[in-house]
Amino acid sequence: MITRRLKIDPLNPDPEIISLAGNIIKSGGLAAFPTETVYGLGANALDPDAVSRIYQAKGRPSDNPLILHVSNLSQAESLVFMNGKARMLAKKFWPGALTLVLPARDIVPLKTRGGLETAAVRCPDNLIALELIKSSGVPIAAPSANTSGRPSPTDSESVYHDMNGKIDLILDAGSVRVGIESTVIDISDPDRVLLLRPGGMSRALIEDALNMTLERPDSQSSKRSPGTRYKHYAPSIPVIICNKDSRLDDININHAGYMGVHEPHENFSRKIIFASYSDYAHGLFAGFRELETQGLSCILVEWPEDDSGINEGLRDRITRAAGNNKI
Ligand code: AMP
Ligand code: MG
Repeated sequence: MITRRLKIDPLNPDPEIISLAGNIIKSGGLAAFPTETVYGLGANALDPDAVSRIYQAKGRPSDNPLILHVSNLSQAESLVFMNGKARMLAKKFWPGALTLVLPARDIVPLKTRGGLETAAVRCPDNLIALELIKSSGVPIAAPSANTSGRPSPTDSESVYHDMNGKIDLILDAGSVRVGIESTVIDISDPDRVLLLRPGGMSRALIEDALNMTLERPDSQSSKRSPGTRYKHYAPSIPVIICNKDSRLDDININHAGYMGVHEPHENFSRKIIFASYSDYAHGLFAGFRELETQGLSCILVEWPEDDSGINEGLRDRITRAAGNNKI
């Protein structure tokens, strides 16, 4: 398959390109597009065959459900049964990096929701994504546009690397704004709201709006987000978590990369120092993809000092890339 790649202006998307991409989605094809969080790999969420193509292109386990992207609240209402709290959050935070898991209506194919009774919906804060959803006339199922298990793509080059030859189109709008995926909450029971995956929207903002604490599902819970079972976001070389005080005597710093907000004491040959934690979150996946190509044997990543704001999501992504590797 030939994968077309078209540049598109994020502030003023060309309607002809949008309409071409919308037609691909409408007719059962796959188009990668930017959202504010990461690039998504989109297909018609209501067409099980199109959705199967997403799983195939990514090599994604079929029990890992997809997020349905909508252009507004009423489109979400056509897919899931909203409750008052969910509606309030959608009105307050959409478009934005908050995904709501709610009881699914029958119109959502089981394939899209990984066989579950619930479905995940989100309205992305990106003009290209919103125009594309409107142009296709259907909700767009879109996981991150990377090969399953790899770091999510935050620019179109990374999408091309993983998806060339496997999908119809890549809309190239440069680098995304946030850099890690949306926060996923299960709000199907409005009295007990679960944080399934921390991400681009901070827990504090959601808890303030709900005036309640978000619970984390325990590891055995059937309410756990299926996707969190799998190893994720990992570059092709090991990732090792460290902090400012870690002793790095055992690491050959000439063959290791480093990422963090603090300068390491050691003189790494390759390092990426971020000016803030939000810059760190923004650059984490791109950093993984850059450092894995430099002939290094591992990447040290600094553990965020606290879990406020974006840091809870950043810690989650770091943990899932590193597994138990820590010094
Ligand atoms: P990705 O599209 O790769 O960003 O992953 C989407 C995330 O949303 C995964 O962690 C899924 O497990 C989660 N998700 C999607 N639908 C549901 C659902 N119905 N119930 C629980 N988690 C979901
Ligand atoms: Mg993903």
